[in-house]
Amino acid sequence: MESILVLMHADETGSTLTKASLESVAAGKELAAQLGAQLAVGVIASDAAAAAAPLASLGARLLAASGEALTQARYATDAAACEAICRAAQPTLVLAPGSSRFARIMAGVAHRLGGAVDTHITALSGTANVEASRWFYRQRIEAVVTRPTRPWFLLLDAGTHAAFAGSTGTAPVEQVAIDLPTPRTTVTGFKAPQQDAQTIRPDAKLLFVAGAGWTKKQPDGQIHANQAGETILRFLRDSGASLGSSKSLVDQGGDGLPVLPFLTHMNQIGQTGATPRHPKGLSTCCHGEEPHVVGWRFINDRRAISLDPNCGWTRGKADVVYIADAFQVMAKVNELLESK
Ligand SMILES: Cc1cc2nc3c(=O)[nH]c(=O)nc-3n(C[C@H](O)[C@H](O)[C@H](O)COP(=O)(O)OP(=O)(O)OC[C@H]3O[C@@H](n4cnc5c(N)ncnc54)[C@H](O)[C@@H]3O)c2cc1C
Repeated sequence: MESILVLMHADETGSTLTKASLESVAAGKELAAQLGAQLAVGVIASDAAAAAAPLASLGARLLAASGEALTQARYATDAAACEAICRAAQPTLVLAPGSSRFARIMAGVAHRLGGAVDTHITALSGTANVEASRWFYRQRIEAVVTRPTRPWFLLLDAGTHAAFAGSTGTAPVEQVAIDLPTPRTTVTGFKAPQQDAQTIRPDAKLLFVAGAGWTKKQPDGQIHANQAGETILRFLRDSGASLGSSKSLVDQGGDGLPVLPFLTHMNQIGQTGATPRHPKGLSTCCHGEEPHVVGWRFINDRRAISLDPNCGWTRGKADVVYIADAFQVMAKVNELLESK
């Protein structure tokens, strides 16, 4: 019989579980019910008792590795903590969020336990055999993977499960002793870009896409790239949306055409770009061609603003299309957001 362990970690506060961690809990709970398997949870945090509070009503065994050394993501300490929890719980399946913190260590932890690891898992199913789904070849092929090796570690992609929402309380947490290695790295502080400079926000409710039209000649015969940049940044700041781009717009810099300086190829959505997951998407000044729209596969509600009534979006690719000037529409939207 399978037994499931969900590993999770706190955010930078050290005492609050990440959203992706709570998504893994929901996935673990669902799979345990399907398989009739036992469920345990392992929390890695500087203050694991506080972090585990939202799991009080889960009804699963709660194990924790706590301590100041686990406040920071560090290979040696995180891997030792995960290994110790796995040895205490003896699971056959280990689910964990595919965060950068866990993606870095989980192959190593699986190796120490003689197990196997798969990443970018989007769905779990099965009753007799556990089946894990993931996409290959830039999201074109969906594969269902099964493995006989145990323990089997599965890193789940964020946004593929609803987050676990139970009542908060005092959860009985078993502290697991860890033999922490002496760290060779010391974290002296953080240097992070300003909030409005970080335009890629995987947890945002909305994906805002900028197309090449923002830097094209407008009806007055002029280019308004600076105004475009200010309008987009204002909207991102006020709405918290994540910023995507068409390929044409991010390629323009190399062609010596006007650019939006805060965009890079990391923002590109599409066949040769990213396929992010957000509940909603708003495309602006973008033609909606197939190689771009294929990157919108996991956007549930799609809207577009384009001057062109014959653009790809109007031909069945968006749920709602506003045939309008995006400069005017977004200026009004910003005004409304700021008046709130
Ligand atoms: C192999 C291959 C792979 C590709 N991969 C990708 C990819 O991954 N991602 C991607 O994006 N593209 C990709 N492309 C390119 C893609 O086919 C399109 O060329 C690109 O998406 C067009 O970008 P765009 O719509 O922003 O620009 P344009 O086609 O120039 O469209 C600009 C739009 O802005 C509108 N507009 C202008 N001013 C305004 C205004 N004021 N208000 C509202 N609308 C306005 C215009 O009406 C026009 O529809 C790929 C192409 C190939 C061949």
